[in-house]
Amino acid sequence: MNKFQELGLNELLLKAIQDLGFENPSEVQEKAIPLLLQQDTDIVALAQTGTGKTAAFGFPLIQKIDPENRSTQALILSPTRELCLQITNEIKQYSKYVKGLHTVAVYGGASITEQAKEVKRGAQIIVATPGRMQDMINRNYVNIKNIQICILDEADEMLNMGFYEDITSILSDTPEEKNTWLFSATMPQEVARIAKEFMKRPQEITVGHKNQGSVNVSHEYYLVGARDRYPVLKRLADMNPDIFSVVFCRTKRDTQAVAEKLIEDGYNAAALHGDLSQAQRDGVMKAFRGRQIQMLVATDVAARGIDVDDITHVINYQLPDEIETYNHRSGRTGRAGKTGTSIVIVTKSEYKKIQMIERIIKTKFVQKPIPTGMEICE
Ligand code: ADP
Ligand code: MG
Repeated sequence: MNKFQELGLNELLLKAIQDLGFENPSEVQEKAIPLLLQQDTDIVALAQTGTGKTAAFGFPLIQKIDPENRSTQALILSPTRELCLQITNEIKQYSKYVKGLHTVAVYGGASITEQAKEVKRGAQIIVATPGRMQDMINRNYVNIKNIQICILDEADEMLNMGFYEDITSILSDTPEEKNTWLFSATMPQEVARIAKEFMKRPQEITVGHKNQGSVNVSHEYYLVGARDRYPVLKRLADMNPDIFSVVFCRTKRDTQAVAEKLIEDGYNAAALHGDLSQAQRDGVMKAFRGRQIQMLVATDVAARGIDVDDITHVINYQLPDEIETYNHRSGRTGRAGKTGTSIVIVTKSEYKKIQMIERIIKTKFVQKPIPTGMEICE
């Protein structure tokens, strides 16, 4: 049985989840979804950005909506127009197999009468910024007197932006017996106040910084021609004589080949992959821990769970397919309060992946210039 199925999600959602390629629920999803599928729960969920909060509320929300009833059943408040559009887009993807379910985005800077028309056509879910929502209510363009669920997404951010009055006024316009689901990265006083005044004994869930990665790790990339991966790797080693690193390759074969070249070129390197015997692997790990090896060239499988202190650099000689794998890799450095660098050697055609990773880890990569021969002693 699939993990999402275990959380109680129905077939229509499971199919959409499969299309999205989500293999396993994230931590906040795992904790929130079963709770939210129950009757009559209010929750306060604290989780950093990039932890998958949209699906954590989106999946149970969709399952609770009656698509045959075209009245507005749920309101999602979100701080900005971009986020409104993003959430709307996600909800549409999640609900693609739910016939008759309509989601409308309501935000400033676009025609309010157009948005009112869309709502009137029958939108069960409204995703709105607080300012524009208040405006819609004042003009009688929406009716939220019968909604069952109100979601406050990025509550801390909304309150930072000065939406306290709008939010409380909107909440006062919703029925007493609805449920409120509050999602936030942090819990400043204003958020606690909203929870206290407008929610019914909310259950609290908190998750760690799952996708955030360590704040101690800086992310860098080198844009190279397809044939320049290896020379750049060498130069990285030359520029950092005290380097103590794991170099990740995609296949056992590449791992072996890169390690052999490094050794041939005089570096303290070794390969770690599944074609080695257990005794060989133990020997390599012992030498690495003992610092006789400075560059451990490894596959993801072989390096899984490697916990060696003071690794200075993680080098993605080739990027992994899964972004989660990137997180596992870069998490090898910057441990126990130390700083570290995660470097990606990337070709032009792979550059898009850097942008994808940036979006997920919510951290920008720094592009480094390819070191010229002048900077190193060849
Ligand atoms: P948050 O709101 O916590 O910042 P998002 O809901 O925007 O996070 O999700 C961040 C990214 O992770 C999105 O691109 C989303 O599609 C992806 N994502 C969410 N849940 C999963 C999952 N279970 N498996 C893989 N990717 C996921
Ligand atoms: Mg979000």
